[in-house]
Amino acid sequence: MTDFLNFIDGAWCAPSTGAWFENRNPADTRDLIGRFPASGVDDVERAIASAERGFERWKRTPAPARGDVLRRVGDLLASRKEELAALMTREMGKPLAETRGDVQEGIDTAYYAATEGRRLFGHTVPSELRNKWAMSFRRPIGVTGLITPFNFPLAIPTWKMFPALVCGNSVVFKPSEDVPHTAHVFVEILLEAGLPPDVIQLVHGYGEVVGKAIVEHPKVPVLSFTGSTATGSFVGETAGRMHKRLSLEMGGKNAQIVLDDADLELAVDGVLWGAFGTTGQRCTATSRLILQDGIHDRFVARLIERASALRLGDGRVAGTDVGPLIHEASRAKVEEYVAIGRAQGAELALGGTRPTDEALAHGYFFQPTIFTNVQAGSRLEQEEIFGPVLSVIRVGDASEAFRVNNGVKYGLSSSLYTRDVSLAFQALQELDNGITYVNAPTIGAEAHLPFGGVKQTGNGHREGGWEVYEFYSETKVGYVDYSGALQRAQIDNY
Ligand code: NAD
Repeated sequence: MTDFLNFIDGAWCAPSTGAWFENRNPADTRDLIGRFPASGVDDVERAIASAERGFERWKRTPAPARGDVLRRVGDLLASRKEELAALMTREMGKPLAETRGDVQEGIDTAYYAATEGRRLFGHTVPSELRNKWAMSFRRPIGVTGLITPFNFPLAIPTWKMFPALVCGNSVVFKPSEDVPHTAHVFVEILLEAGLPPDVIQLVHGYGEVVGKAIVEHPKVPVLSFTGSTATGSFVGETAGRMHKRLSLEMGGKNAQIVLDDADLELAVDGVLWGAFGTTGQRCTATSRLILQDGIHDRFVARLIERASALRLGDGRVAGTDVGPLIHEASRAKVEEYVAIGRAQGAELALGGTRPTDEALAHGYFFQPTIFTNVQAGSRLEQEEIFGPVLSVIRVGDASEAFRVNNGVKYGLSSSLYTRDVSLAFQALQELDNGITYVNAPTIGAEAHLPFGGVKQTGNGHREGGWEVYEFYSETKVGYVDYSGALQRAQIDNY
């Protein structure tokens, strides 16, 4: 049995609590990966004190040199891609092709961050006074608290950490207790790449203890959280009360719309990948399929035929399309929604149960599930399930499809399949989501574009792309008056 450790104040160390939690393979719970620290508030205190010291040093390291460390991180991730993908699949279940993609997202984010170290643009503008210089530039902020979910064990931590580091902040990292092994190896890689040890602190443990202590700590002025909307509400309330800078990325209820004129086979490919990739456990997963009347029956028939052929299994086995859910509570939640759907009059067209295959008996598997005749406004159509359950809604035309898409409290991603270029551009304008795909599924963000959602999915910030660098740095304005005389702005310039 391997006991993994926290990384605090430059050293790998056991938790002050003496308590541990187990990490098991969700595809086969007999497979124990190891024990991880169930840390306490004291561990968080030590980590933050060390990160404050790390910040003092790191903020004075030139940004291009900070970027160089990230480039080396990218190189190491690339050289260990297969090993990382395998350990991630063992830890959280999604097939190897998907965990390879998760690592690739981290590599791309690292190289983007490395080049951003040479940019971090400010503005130089003319002053309204003579012989005076006016400019803005970006400054680091301090200790950042990064709290991440299980579904992208590497990509999401890199989305937060790399821009935070390039901008000159230090990091206290609290990974999901469902994927601590990936976090462990990731921190080893950061250290090997030359990140100063007190700039990164890894504190394992439960959200209600470790996560909460980071969120409530007065010496952590910046928080970035990705996870459920319920947890995000607690983080948001606390950050608001304590005047912290906060980025929230939370739940989704994403829809794929297919209009009568669409390329149907392309749209079937899209919805299969969007709904059942990562076993539906993506914030951008396709949870609703909005079909126009004219193609509805044909499309559903083809979809069920194709979805029936998806192979459920251990993600490390070649040919597996759909892995397990992350734990028993997630599977119980999926079952609860299957019951809710039936009770509210939706028709179960596929799945709806656990598999009977003996080989899958030790994992948290659930059949890909499709409900038809789902009513807009019903619970199945409104609430995030985070599992392999797709709800099909019938609509008459594009404007009704847009209304249904927008009729939920979330606003992460949406997708429209059509050959009509006018409708495609209308959708980009009208759909209330942070991301809209045309003729592509609801999943598939690229590392160099901003990522995030509107309404109750987020709080206005974005990860990825150029915008995130503004979140992790503070704008400072500098005026230099070289006139040699007292000049008063607004009073005597005109
Ligand atoms: P979760 O909210 O259960 O946990 C997320 C993280 O928060 C974990 O590290 C957890 O330990 C921590 N946490 C729990 N309670 C806490 C508390 N009181 N204080 C501080 N931290 C606490 O979410 P999850 O089950 O890991 O992930 C699934 C959810 O994440 C889904 O709702 C999904 O939509 C969302 N998600 C959103 C995005 C996005 O970018 N919008 C991306 C991925 C996942």
